[in-house]
Amino acid sequence: MNRLDALRGTTPQKPHDARAIAALAANPGCARRALLDGAGIDKDAAARHLGFPAPFGQSPFAITRGNVFEALVKADGCAELLRMLRELLGLPIAEVAYHDVENVGAHLRHAHTRALFDRAARDGGDAGTVYDHPLLSLDIAGHTAYLEPDVVAFQLGGRFHIVEIKSFAVIDGQADPSAVAAAARQAAVYVLALRRMLRELGHDPLRVAHDVVLVCPENFANRPVASPLDVRRQLGVLERQLSRMTGLDRLLDGLPADLTFDLLPDEDGLPTRPAAELADALRGATARYAPDCLSACDLCFFCRDEARQEGATDLLGRHVRDELGGVASVGEALGLADGARDPAEGQEEIARLLRNAERLRRECLA
Ligand code: SF4
Repeated sequence: MNRLDALRGTTPQKPHDARAIAALAANPGCARRALLDGAGIDKDAAARHLGFPAPFGQSPFAITRGNVFEALVKADGCAELLRMLRELLGLPIAEVAYHDVENVGAHLRHAHTRALFDRAARDGGDAGTVYDHPLLSLDIAGHTAYLEPDVVAFQLGGRFHIVEIKSFAVIDGQADPSAVAAAARQAAVYVLALRRMLRELGHDPLRVAHDVVLVCPENFANRPVASPLDVRRQLGVLERQLSRMTGLDRLLDGLPADLTFDLLPDEDGLPTRPAAELADALRGATARYAPDCLSACDLCFFCRDEARQEGATDLLGRHVRDELGGVASVGEALGLADGARDPAEGQEEIARLLRNAERLRRECLA
């Protein structure tokens, strides 16, 4: 049994989906999350057992709305989608071909997807083609995760474009920035998976465009609108995070040999491990809490509580934490600001800035 298996113990492994992989890129500096995801641990089950459940997952209403919108975009062989892609990507009007990979049996879908993309990449001069329900894969710390992008469009000119269909609205050309950021992270997972597939097949991975096509309803109506979305930055973060996960050995080396996050599930799958013991084990892996965790990680309330108890500057957000570089707690920052605490080696500059800030604050209050 390797160290990651030992970390998970008897708890069944939780497979990664694109949403979970995308969330990895949301906090690349957190060792706790890297270890939990690398070992395939169910963070949601752990958070519930610890008494810190996070309200993640879409509401049934949102899921229904999303399904209805996707069905509308894909109705009649993706007729509405093709209309938008013709405008956005210049897919040739008369020659677009449509492949629904879902028609193939589930166990063959991945192999069939590979064969289709291999052929499309070889016949680079072919006309535009749309692939519905392709099945891609991505290796996450030694485990294969299967991923299903909404659609992939193959453009005349030899480039593949991931199409991401989302049900949040674009109003007067603007959409909720956090929803767009989450969609970009998720689309980057598909871009990376498709690039790796092309590389394995001996093709140029850069034939998968970093410009994905985001399809959303426009102005509260269900009429879809397509916009290009550049995911280069998300791709960079994701690749760094995944390579960090394959190098988990360095993180594991710093942990006690008997550390485990095992939930010790009973035969009904319910955790039996004392919650306090599990909490202690988790505290053994360093977290890097930031308020953004509240929208991206199941353990957010547990880690926020821990950061509160420690008075960590993490609670103030990444920007403040980075500005305070090396000052770990709010108490320490206040002590440096009012002079009650002498700066440690390397803290002289931040201590000077904090004292100046404190002096200005006092002058303003006076
Ligand atoms: S919630 Fe905790 S474990 Fe998850 S990313 Fe944030 S700090 Fe890391």
